[in-house]
Amino acid sequence: MGKDKTNRMVSTLPVKRMSETKKVEGIRIVKISDGTVIDHITAGHALQVLQILGITGKEDYIVTLAMNISSSKTGQKDIVKLEHRFLEDHEVARVALVAPDATLNLIEDGKVTKKTRIQLPDVIDNVIKCPNQRCVTNKEREPVTPKFQVVSKDPMSLKCHYCWTLVDETDIIAQFTESK
Ligand SMILES: [Zn+2]
Repeated sequence: MGKDKTNRMVSTLPVKRMSETKKVEGIRIVKISDGTVIDHITAGHALQVLQILGITGKEDYIVTLAMNISSSKTGQKDIVKLEHRFLEDHEVARVALVAPDATLNLIEDGKVTKKTRIQLPDVIDNVIKCPNQRCVTNKEREPVTPKFQVVSKDPMSLKCHYCWTLVDETDIIAQFTESK
């Protein structure tokens, strides 16, 4: 049985490689029937995308990750595919913080039914907390919604609108992983 499987894989691979490598590079990884494909992730940032979504690999759905794939647009990119997983708006807002140029493909019945480009706004409203404990956004009695301005996208740097504390990608990811 095992032998048979191996033989079959070996015999089909060369044919596909010759004709399709260039064209379908992004799609070849694993096709999913339904779920979400996060494409055009800044090269090397796929792991951060998983982290910020709280995906550890212990979920019961398929997670496919490809890093440093060549792309005509950006040179290199990462891709994350999540089977049976759809992103809420607040999750998309988080992804934007680590992959500001990504695109989201919604897959239903094996087809892309919706394609959206993630857009990182200039002002990030109520997505992350200010790490400064004395910031007005952290006061329990007078709740002010946290607000950050994007100082730089690459590397990511955000500035608190109220206390000017700077936050980088590591701080951002830590907020979504520490609480677990
Ligand atoms: Zn602050």
